[in-house]
Amino acid sequence: MIFNISKIRTYFFCPKKFFLESKNESFDNTLSYLPKKGKENISLAYDFLGVTLVVKNVEIIIGEKITIISRRRGKRLYQYHYLEAAGYAYVVSKFTNKEIEVIFKSNYYNVKMPWEKYINSFQNAIQYFSENNYFRPKLNPECKFCKYSFECTNELMAYRDISLIRGIGKYRLEKLKEYGINTLDDLVENQKKVKEIFKGKTNKIIAQAKAFLEKKVILINSISRLSSGIFLDIESYNDFHFLFGVLYNDRYIPFLSTKKKEEKIAVKNLLKFLKEKNLPVYHYYNYEPLQINKLIKKYKLRNPKLVFVDLYTIFSRNIAVPTISYSLKSLAKYFGFNWRTTLNGNNVVQKFEEFLRTKDKSILKEILKYNEDDVRATKLLLDVVNKISS
Ligand code: SF4
Repeated sequence: MIFNISKIRTYFFCPKKFFLESKNESFDNTLSYLPKKGKENISLAYDFLGVTLVVKNVEIIIGEKITIISRRRGKRLYQYHYLEAAGYAYVVSKFTNKEIEVIFKSNYYNVKMPWEKYINSFQNAIQYFSENNYFRPKLNPECKFCKYSFECTNELMAYRDISLIRGIGKYRLEKLKEYGINTLDDLVENQKKVKEIFKGKTNKIIAQAKAFLEKKVILINSISRLSSGIFLDIESYNDFHFLFGVLYNDRYIPFLSTKKKEEKIAVKNLLKFLKEKNLPVYHYYNYEPLQINKLIKKYKLRNPKLVFVDLYTIFSRNIAVPTISYSLKSLAKYFGFNWRTTLNGNNVVQKFEEFLRTKDKSILKEILKYNEDDVRATKLLLDVVNKISS
């Protein structure tokens, strides 16, 4: 089995996903020696406990000492970054006696990593990986982008696993165990005890459990029909909001800027359009109104006092759907929507970066297609609300 150290974040969040993806990893073009000198983007492979550890996507500068540089995007370092640094140093140390330093760099930090401190934890992680060939789903924020979410839902359902209930938290999970409530069925059958723990949230918890057990959508609170409106979805690259996708009367209208200096014009055009139509603006989660308000302030634009309606809030408060995530993708897919691209909220940023670098119009086309699907999926959720409410 291959352990791609640059993907240790995935291992940290969900060993199952990492394990499944490892099956498709290859270590072609990896070296089992270190060149004598130079600055290289080489890949190294080293066998440890029956696992092939692979170092790639780093720069290795070979001189008096060895410097490993990992270029990142994030704003801060997390615990798994230290394990990752230890992994790189551990593998490289098998090919040299020279001193090794590991540097993690992004636009926000440039840190010499104290990798020596994390070598034991790294080795323990590999040992655990090497000794197991089954990992139970570990629900985490990445599930919303994960292609195995359907499989994991079914797997957890087979265990009647309480972790399927969103927002249950560690503390309450422990409490439930103390009360002898270990499965979704126990939850439904012990509503008095559940009420002692969840108080006002009990109906929501029970409805979620029932939705999984009965494999259907359950209404938690009655909901009103929503009027027709405009659907909005924003794509951003760092603090540059390059695409405001709108769906109006079933027509997709992109307000696009490919240069930061054009962002203001795109926002102005968007606001003018939305004001003229004077309809509710539907979106999913709170990103869109937050960013629009920030941009109005940033560019000192007249506030058109738009009425935003968040479909996520409507679903989250009122409708129990048997999915492990309430992301737009998870919900809309559950209701039959198919995205035409493999993009998601994470990799669309990388795609746009690729477009900025290459100016390849086909990349932009793919991003537009993805954004159009997002607004169409948002519209589908409005249709679902109206169907349920009628
Ligand atoms: S859906 Fe979630 S639990 Fe399942 S493999 Fe993906 S990340 Fe892991």
